[in-house]
Amino acid sequence: MLGNATVRTLDVEAAPHTLVLAGELGPWDVDGSAASVAAIVREQLAFWGSVPYDHYTFLNVVNEARGGLEHLDSTLMMTHRRATSVREDHVRWLGLVSHEFFHTWNVKRLRPAPLGPFDYENEAYTPSLWVAEGLTSYYDDLLLVRAGLITEKEYLGRITDQLTSVQETPGRRVQTLSQASADAWIKYYRKDENTVNTGISYYTKGMLVGWLLDSRIRCETDGKRSLDDVMRLAHARHSGAQGYTPEAFEAIIAEVAGTPLTDELDSWLRSTDELDYEPALACLGLRFADPDDKEEEADGDAAKASEPEDPPAGWLGAGLDARGARHVVVDVKRGTPAWDAGLNVDDELVAVDGYRVPTDGPGALWATLPPGSAVQLTISRRGVLRELPATLGEAPRDTWTVEVDPDASSDAVRQRSAWLASATAPAPR
Ligand SMILES: [Zn+2]
Repeated sequence: MLGNATVRTLDVEAAPHTLVLAGELGPWDVDGSAASVAAIVREQLAFWGSVPYDHYTFLNVVNEARGGLEHLDSTLMMTHRRATSVREDHVRWLGLVSHEFFHTWNVKRLRPAPLGPFDYENEAYTPSLWVAEGLTSYYDDLLLVRAGLITEKEYLGRITDQLTSVQETPGRRVQTLSQASADAWIKYYRKDENTVNTGISYYTKGMLVGWLLDSRIRCETDGKRSLDDVMRLAHARHSGAQGYTPEAFEAIIAEVAGTPLTDELDSWLRSTDELDYEPALACLGLRFADPDDKEEEADGDAAKASEPEDPPAGWLGAGLDARGARHVVVDVKRGTPAWDAGLNVDDELVAVDGYRVPTDGPGALWATLPPGSAVQLTISRRGVLRELPATLGEAPRDTWTVEVDPDASSDAVRQRSAWLASATAPAPR
C-alpha cells in the first residue's frame, strides 16, 4: 500500500500495533478510531492469552467500498468515511476490525487441515468453515461488548439481526451447515437468484451455532467453562501446519463441556433441523420480545386506540426492484404467495387486478386487498404479457427480537454477566 497514509501507534503494551488510514478521510475520527481499535486488541489478547506476532498492522482504506481480509500479522480493510460518525455504521466497522483481528488466531494459525498450507491453485474442501468463519462471526461482536465499545442492547440487536436473517432464509431447511461449508466454492461464492431458497450462510448460521454452543457449555458446567476455553484449547493443540479435523475439534468441545454433545452437534452441523434458541435464551436470562408489545406502545393511550385503523394489507412476498417506472422481481422466497403463484425472478409486475402498478410501487394496491384476497397479477416475462392468479397472504411479523428477560433467575443473570464480562478485568465475584 502506497500513499500519504495517516498513521497512529496504538496504546497496547504487548507489542507494537499500528493503525494505517488511507484515502480521503473526510469526517473520519482518527484518534477515536485508534482508541477503539486498541481496546479491541487488548480484549482479544486477554481472550487468547498469546501474542503470535512481533508487530501488527491494521490497514484501513477509506474508499467507500466494504470488506476485509486477514493476513498473518496484518489485515486489509475497506470502509466508508462516515463509518465513525453514524452509530450503526460505526458498530459494523468495529465488528469488521474485531472479525479480521480474531482471524489472526482462528484461521491464520488455527485452521481446518485441508486449508493448510494453502493451495492457491485448487479448490480445498472442508466442512469446518462454521468454526473458521462462523465462530469468528460469533466472537467479533461479542468481544466488542466485552471491550465496552458497544452496549448490551446493541449486542442483542446484532444477534437479532443474524437470527432474523437465518430464519427468513428458506434454504436453511435445504442445506446443512457442513454442506454450506464444503460447497462454498460452487454455492457461497457463486450466488444466484435462487440461493436464498437452496442454501444457508456458514457465517450467520455458524454464528448462531457458536452462541448455542457457548451457552450450552456455560450452563452444562455451571459457568466454569465456555466456548472461550474450546477456542484456546484448540489453538494450543492444533495451531500450525497440521490443522484440525472436524473430529478433533468436536473432541475438544466434548472435553471442555464434560459431555460429548453428539446429538446437538449432529443437529446443528449435519441436519436441516430448525435451531432451538430457547435453551440459550433461558441459560443467559434472555427472551424473544413479544411482537404485540411494540404495537401497544405505538398505539399509546386509550383515546388513540379508538381512532379508526387501516385494515391489514395483503402480502405477495416477492422482492421488487424499481427500474424507472418498472417493478422487477429480484427474489422469490419459497413458501410465499409469490412462490405459490409461480412468479419468477426478472418478471416485471405490470398490474394487479387490471390496475397499473403505480410508479412508486404496488404498496397502495396491497393496502386495499386484505390477506386472503384472490388477485390477478399481470406480468411481463421476457416481453410477453401473462396473467397469474395469486392469493395474497399476511406479512410475517418480527418475532425474533432478543431482549433481556426481566424475570430471569439469579443464576441466569450471573451467567449473562459472565458471558459479557471483559477478560481484561478480574472476573466479577
Ligand atoms: Zn472472516
